[in-house]
Amino acid sequence: MAARPTPALIERLIARTRARAGAALVRTLETVEHTSGATRVVAGERLIDFAANDYLGLARHPHVIAALIRGAANDGVGARAAHLLGGHRSAHAGLEAALADWLGQERALLVGSGWLAHLSLFGALLESGDASVQDKRNHASMIDAARYAGAELVRYPHRDVAGCARQLERLGPRAALVATDGVFSMDGDIAPIAALATLAAAHRATFAVDEAHALGVLGPDGRGSAALAGLRPRDAIIVGTLGKAFGTYGAFVAGDAALIDGLIQFARPYVYATAPPPALATATHAALALILNEGWRRERLARLVARFRRLAHSAALPIMASTTPIQPLIVGSAARALLASAALRARGFAVPAIRPPTVPVGAARLRISLSAAHADGDIDRLVEALAAVLSALPDPAAGPHRAEPGATPESKATQTVPETECASR
Ligand SMILES: *Cc1c(COP(=O)(O)O)cnc(C)c1O
Repeated sequence: MAARPTPALIERLIARTRARAGAALVRTLETVEHTSGATRVVAGERLIDFAANDYLGLARHPHVIAALIRGAANDGVGARAAHLLGGHRSAHAGLEAALADWLGQERALLVGSGWLAHLSLFGALLESGDASVQDKRNHASMIDAARYAGAELVRYPHRDVAGCARQLERLGPRAALVATDGVFSMDGDIAPIAALATLAAAHRATFAVDEAHALGVLGPDGRGSAALAGLRPRDAIIVGTLGKAFGTYGAFVAGDAALIDGLIQFARPYVYATAPPPALATATHAALALILNEGWRRERLARLVARFRRLAHSAALPIMASTTPIQPLIVGSAARALLASAALRARGFAVPAIRPPTVPVGAARLRISLSAAHADGDIDRLVEALAAVLSALPDPAAGPHRAEPGATPESKATQTVPETECASR
């Protein structure tokens, strides 16, 4: 029998993957064998880990682990049903109340992941004819959520409040959801949240902040970038993810009771999905207690960020205007970013190369993320290694303003994709 021909869609996918490989843009999946605080073991090699989002070092905290085990013993592993069909357990309800209380919001709603949280929020709020006004470097989950909701996606230049105002004026009386990352995931800088909140209110637009990289890290009691900016709870809907500083997994939306009631009715990714494992809620509750009671983790992290920036500045490394634990170093082409990442690995450091379409063409970078679990010496050695590796890189033949080499088959896509997918990790 003749071999079955490759289906057309699979063939196209293969061609796209091949084009990525030719342009140093292909992604590779690695298996991590072990993690412990600030290290990861890959292929038998122990690396100092500057690639994780475990900002406070809670993912392996004994209290969090014990809570997960206790939760599983009490409640089993799976929730067995969607929230509305008996999957909503005391562990979920307790965590939702604690999260709302922490943020000063009326209610919080647990959702399976940050992606599902955005699909839930945008899908329930927006209809076709509405608009979602977003920073150009917002996370992919918000960009895609606007499309999923059938709303018009309207973007403004990075952190540009006047640009946002122009877009809102252009939209006139149309209903709009203004949404921004609190801390931008690939740049580490902070959105002009107070000004955006004022602007949104003046246009009767709804305002939402994605606090994925800010909760637990910034603001009083780690309440995030909106709290740091002095917003009152009613000024913004908060979307939080639990897979970063909380060290667990999942996400939530927090806001007024009327919002949460509406999400429970109309958010399809919430209504038609199995509730997250209740034991995970128990573990997350323990992580929240640590965020509240061990403020020294946040302070230590801030000291490490300052240490990194001071040393990197002395070593003349091209640091960006970030005061958060996300410290990117732009190296230019994707090929240079890959070379730098590989050279750091050879020296015992895990530092990922972030390339287009996650970041704009010509702005490939090393993305360093710091954790309270790091030792001062880890930071010192990292800066030494960065200085050695970056000075030994080949000349930036493909500097910031040149196209990626070998991108011909996809060059059109490479040029247009960053417009829609930039900062889409
Ligand atoms: C990681 C991330 C998300 C997605 O959250 P998950 O819980 O991992 O799905 C959303 N927004 C930002 C800014 C993120 O960095």
